[in-house]
Amino acid sequence: MKDLSTRAASNDKSDRKRFCEILLEGLAPDGGLYLPESYPQVDAATLSKWRGLSYADLAFEVLSLYIDDIPAADLKAICRKTYTAEVFGTAEIVPLKKLQDGLYLEALSNGPTLAFKDMAMQLLGNLFEYELARRGEELNILGATSGDTGSAAEYAMRGKQGVRVFMTSPYGRMSPFQQAQMFSLQDANIHNLAVKGVFDDCQDMVKAVSNDLAFKRQYKIGTVNSINWARLMAQVVYYFAGYFQATKNSPHPNPPPAGEGETQKVSFSVPSGNFGNVCAGHVARMMGLPIDHLVVATNENDVLDEFFRTGVYRVRGSADTHETSSPSMDISKASNFERFVFDLLGRDGEKTRSLFHDQLNATGRFDLSADPAFAQAAQAYGFVSGKSTHADRLATIRDTHQRFGVMIDTHTADGLKVAREHLTPGVSMIVLETALPIKFAETIVEALGCEPDRPAKFIGIEALPKRVQVMDADVQAVKAYITQHCA
Ligand SMILES: *Cc1c(COP(=O)(O)O)cnc(C)c1O
Repeated sequence: MKDLSTRAASNDKSDRKRFCEILLEGLAPDGGLYLPESYPQVDAATLSKWRGLSYADLAFEVLSLYIDDIPAADLKAICRKTYTAEVFGTAEIVPLKKLQDGLYLEALSNGPTLAFKDMAMQLLGNLFEYELARRGEELNILGATSGDTGSAAEYAMRGKQGVRVFMTSPYGRMSPFQQAQMFSLQDANIHNLAVKGVFDDCQDMVKAVSNDLAFKRQYKIGTVNSINWARLMAQVVYYFAGYFQATKNSPHPNPPPAGEGETQKVSFSVPSGNFGNVCAGHVARMMGLPIDHLVVATNENDVLDEFFRTGVYRVRGSADTHETSSPSMDISKASNFERFVFDLLGRDGEKTRSLFHDQLNATGRFDLSADPAFAQAAQAYGFVSGKSTHADRLATIRDTHQRFGVMIDTHTADGLKVAREHLTPGVSMIVLETALPIKFAETIVEALGCEPDRPAKFIGIEALPKRVQVMDADVQAVKAYITQHCA
């Protein structure tokens, strides 16, 4: 199985790469995103076979359909080392919680940093360590974070051979809990750089360093951003795991149609920002997992909801990007969206390039409303969408707590609010729980008047000694720091 760029000319197969070649890369050289040449098909018999597997072994089965340049025994060992009850809290790894008949929460937030990014990042840490050792190379990951991604990357890479992490964050702007999570790490290969500025300053500095190609090469600078194909692929697994749990007692409709096994459909509602999470659902659906709808839930930053309602994709400037109480979905453009549009357009790389490169650069928008392909987004690909606001979040958090005694975080609340607008009789709806409420305590207090539950291992973390370097928003200072710490 090779991977191609979403901007590759359809008749050009020269740039196709294998998994380990793109593992440590970000964008394709032509500016596109990598996707597999085709989606391996999983039939009903295979689904039945996978149903009984542990999460780690299910991950191995899914991943091995895409990865043919890591020996199977090694890949299985990597999966088993990654998805353990010790790291993710339960044997199920992503346990399903029933709210009411046909409505579930799937917990993707029981990993080390209590947000769904751990699901993929923990695997990435082990894959990086494996591949770097195999090549005899090192990698210095430079990133910018406003919270979730940076901490997930640090917890995934801590103590790993051959990898250092340099994570910039806006000084004093993350929640005390988030700061404590990151800055209390004492591992020598983890470097926290608190920058006197805002998140955009951090991101600009990371870009400036990466654009200095000589520096980038000499210091082996890499990233772990959400467009990494390995991250997306790791996320495909929990769609299968959620499906198996929701259909456990009724693997097929009653009575099952003749000759069919696993045909019971489920829908997923996904709190979305950069479209990475729900794009993995799209991949699972393309592989044949019986998914009815993929519900894209946005907050006030509704770039994606606008597209699925109208066919117009319009990126926002920073002035039009709202700071909300579900901050991990505060995006101005959805960096993984190009992958889906590529499929929607029948994998036409030239057309994808003209939309995402030419038109977005020239006008900041493109319009598919008159394109016959647009109707297929819902009809053939199952996508529907909706939007949730701060008031909706408060109401949903309150309602869920009162009726079911369950505390949910603000992002999950967006997902649940929009899920309820798309319930179909006879089709179970699984809302992906993307973070635990403790990460966004302020809004929980606003909604419920009490502090969220705190998992035992996080009690008192704000008081731990902190390891962080405060610096000005100065590219030279970041480079100097990296140079000094790459000995
Ligand atoms: C990153 C994140 C999201 C958004 O996921 P995307 O893959 O960017 O769509 C939603 N909720 C939480 C808690 C997150 O950390």
